[in-house]
Amino acid sequence: MDPTLDLSLFEAGSRTGGVIHTESADGFILDHGADMFATQPPAAIELIRELGLENQLIEPELTRRGARIVHRGRLVPVPEGFVLMRATAWLPMLTTPLLGVTGKLRFFAERFVPPLREDRDESVSEFVLRRMGRQVLERIVAPLAAGIYTADIQKLSMRATMGPIVAMEQRYGSLAKAAAARRRSGEDSIERSSSGARYGKFRSFPGGMKQFLDSLAEKLPKGTIHLHCPIERLERCEGQKGGNGRWRVHLQDETSQEFDEVVVAVPPQVASGLLRPLSAAAASELDSIEMASAAIVALGVPRTQISEDIDTFGFVVPLSENRRILAGSFASHKFAGRAPEGQVIIRVFIGGAMQSELLQHTDPELIQIAREELGELIGLTGEPTLARVVRWNDAMPQYHLGHLDRVERIEQEMEKIEGLSLVNNGLHGVGIAPVITQAGRVAQKVIERLARSCDSTSGDDVGVGTGS
Ligand SMILES: Cc1cc2nc3c(=O)[nH]c(=O)nc-3n(C[C@H](O)[C@H](O)[C@H](O)COP(=O)(O)OP(=O)(O)OC[C@H]3O[C@@H](n4cnc5c(N)ncnc54)[C@H](O)[C@@H]3O)c2cc1C
Repeated sequence: MDPTLDLSLFEAGSRTGGVIHTESADGFILDHGADMFATQPPAAIELIRELGLENQLIEPELTRRGARIVHRGRLVPVPEGFVLMRATAWLPMLTTPLLGVTGKLRFFAERFVPPLREDRDESVSEFVLRRMGRQVLERIVAPLAAGIYTADIQKLSMRATMGPIVAMEQRYGSLAKAAAARRRSGEDSIERSSSGARYGKFRSFPGGMKQFLDSLAEKLPKGTIHLHCPIERLERCEGQKGGNGRWRVHLQDETSQEFDEVVVAVPPQVASGLLRPLSAAAASELDSIEMASAAIVALGVPRTQISEDIDTFGFVVPLSENRRILAGSFASHKFAGRAPEGQVIIRVFIGGAMQSELLQHTDPELIQIAREELGELIGLTGEPTLARVVRWNDAMPQYHLGHLDRVERIEQEMEKIEGLSLVNNGLHGVGIAPVITQAGRVAQKVIERLARSCDSTSGDDVGVGTGS
């Protein structure tokens, strides 16, 4: 770190990390939110390398690769090579019990469907319906996309969430032709041996994702992080000769501090509140990013209490199955050392944009719902060894149609406010890796600005309203 840079990080809560947190209890290592990060885009892995932590990373146990989809009450494997919304291998699509004959015929007709000619955003549901038909949409893509975005796919923007797939359609004319070309060039090697998600591209830490945050915090100079310090208001100080001045950051305890640069790294709605007096337009745009909520019921159970085959990383549940859970993730299958010998961790996702009413249940009721659903789906019986409910209220930004235009408008507004930057998961990607990419870009800009404006002075100050 540049010794002349005086950095302060104000965090509202009692710990850093936001959505990233891990609990260790009774031999279980339980991620409360994110449990892995993607190595693409490379910003996260590059940061980890910079911190000297790369040799500690663990990879998913690929012998159990792949996800399943609930179909007529049973867990059916996602066809091998089907990742997110495209197939990279044909035979598994031909033989999968997830699709009927008409669904399969419609899927194989995809190569003859012309690409979209108009220059407009489509919803995920419109795109898949147009290219691959209703069965692929409802039985495969919708639950997989809902598992990631907990979203309403009729509103989810293709361009904002599946940009590379839109580009493939435009470049090759169809996803089938794209897959053939990428098979020849070797680009789809990870996809072809995955199902559901590209698990081979994800990593975690032996102590859970919190280990990343703890190591990052340790690298910061002592006294940088201020916990229990919610930022309440930002004020532009009077500048010299009528020019723009520094920023005064007002904290909830009625103290305040001055900085040259401020990075607002809080959830979009909180950022909206802080920005309203400075740019009503940016504030309203941020406010209009809808957020979804979900609860995770994490259960630690002896393997002997599960009667069905659970040799998978997890499963997703189509809405048409009329169940009260969105997905289940076998966290202890993904990464070794997460549970004591003979025990399994299952993280059950409840709520999301489509079933938010379920979140009105109390914690014991949510645990009961999870146990009942798992009883029917995987034959879970008996008392769990460990049970937790973690609620993530308004924590999942929904990238709806027109999202990219909205982000552009927000950024144009932010350009007008000198010395103030914005980072959050409501802008350029919800995953840890895209958020770190964005944070890296902002940090670079801030440093360049400080270097330009303060050539003659030393001791530049940056304030960060926290984030992961
Ligand atoms: C349940 C769940 C599972 C996920 N799983 C994965 C996964 O496996 N892999 C992956 O890549 N991504 C995953 N994600 C997404 C990813 O974890 C998040 O998008 C990302 O971590 C968000 O980072 P952030 O810094 O934008 O926001 P946050 O993590 O929300 O951080 C914002 C911080 O701002 C603080 N704050 C709020 N108000 C103020 C204020 N006034 N003053 C000061 N501080 C304030 C908050 O306390 C918080 O610490 C998951 C998300 C959720 C909800």
